[in-house]
Amino acid sequence: MGKHLFMGGIHPPDEKKRTAQLPVEVAPLPERIFLPVSQHIGAPAKTAVKKGDKVLKGQVVATASGFVSVPIHSSTSGIVKSVGPYHHPMGAKQLAIEIEVDGEDLAAEPMAPIADPLNADPNVIKSRILEAGIVGMGGATFPTHVKLSPPPESPIDAVILNGVECEPFLTADHRLMLERGDDIMCGLKLILNIFGLERGFIGIEKNKPDAIAEMARFATQRGWCDIRGLEVRYPQGAEKQLIHAILGRDVPSGALPMAVGTVVQNVATAVAIWEAVTQGKPLIERVATVTGDGVNEPKNLLIRTGMTLEHLVTQAGGLTDDCQKVIMGGPMMGMAQHTLEVPATKGTSGVLCLPASQVRATGHRDCISCGRCVSACPMGLSPTTIFNLIDKDKVAEADEWSALDCIECGSCSYVCPAWIPLVQYIRYAKGRVMARRRELKG
Ligand code: SF4
Ligand code: SF4
Repeated sequence: MGKHLFMGGIHPPDEKKRTAQLPVEVAPLPERIFLPVSQHIGAPAKTAVKKGDKVLKGQVVATASGFVSVPIHSSTSGIVKSVGPYHHPMGAKQLAIEIEVDGEDLAAEPMAPIADPLNADPNVIKSRILEAGIVGMGGATFPTHVKLSPPPESPIDAVILNGVECEPFLTADHRLMLERGDDIMCGLKLILNIFGLERGFIGIEKNKPDAIAEMARFATQRGWCDIRGLEVRYPQGAEKQLIHAILGRDVPSGALPMAVGTVVQNVATAVAIWEAVTQGKPLIERVATVTGDGVNEPKNLLIRTGMTLEHLVTQAGGLTDDCQKVIMGGPMMGMAQHTLEVPATKGTSGVLCLPASQVRATGHRDCISCGRCVSACPMGLSPTTIFNLIDKDKVAEADEWSALDCIECGSCSYVCPAWIPLVQYIRYAKGRVMARRRELKG
């Protein structure tokens, strides 16, 4: 079991009962899909198709445009209707490829399966991960081939698969562990092989005892990892908190997990890696939870990239009459959406629909200096101080108060009795601090 508790954190109701026991259902094809060329952290992919082109499932429609970039593949067959700005889950419109779906779901020639995958050359595995467009599927969407290529001065001696899924409401990873346990284990083995390691870890919160039991069964059969049941405390699934809980290692301020010899990957990413290597399948589908009291029939769905939220909520019985807010992701770290025309991407782990009665009113009161946000912060920051500084445009001071260490977990906003949207202020502060640092560098 995980031994090391991280500082701060909160205990929001987990709200997972609606979907935790519901098997994953396959979402049917829609009439149109919209594939943003930016579904990952890093340089957007470069469009490789034009209006009128016929495309097949799995075909590359946008190519990687740098080392920190990945290709985008069509998630079904059809005709390219347009290439231009379209709604994006992150807010402003971004370049996307609109495809009129032909309903035949015809597949392109797949990448050849890699023979004897568990003994394959690590560089061949990493090339395949890039070719398949795989990114971190826990929400970070960092290109996986980059994360698996640390510089020689940062040797890796520990690999952790993240099955924590600490965001309330979401059960996509939970179902994956129950339904695809051996694929997760084999994906982990491929990652271990890249670093020449024999054993890894899978971290799972203790509120998923069935998933812990299922993964422990495969761990015993395969002998490649230890399962760690972890305290239920948000944000247990954040990388730095997970590394601390399992290994007792503290990632320094401003550093990445590789600074402490560790790589963390999501369980869904492990499945995507296994499928890319053994089936030649690119990352064009994933499990997502469509849930909340603002949707009629919450579900776990196997979705294709590019499906709109409108299509996904329709598969879950449609929105209730009193639904007021739709969030891409979970309630803590997800992004509120202004339209259901937004497409799901590689990082879409859920769609949360909330009725008016569960949506916090906008507007906030003055800070009462209660200190709850400071106690809740898992990074040891003072959210109220950073909020006050950025509110007064004091960017340099916000930097001195380590605004960039914020992992945007939302714990401070959750506990604030004055309902100050602290995480939004601090996210803004981070943007300003980074811009200032760039300016100073010239
Ligand atoms: S959002 Fe940032 S400042 Fe707020 S609790 Fe999380 S890490 Fe701390
Ligand atoms: S929790 Fe809210 S009210 Fe309390 S100190 Fe922090 S910002 Fe101020």
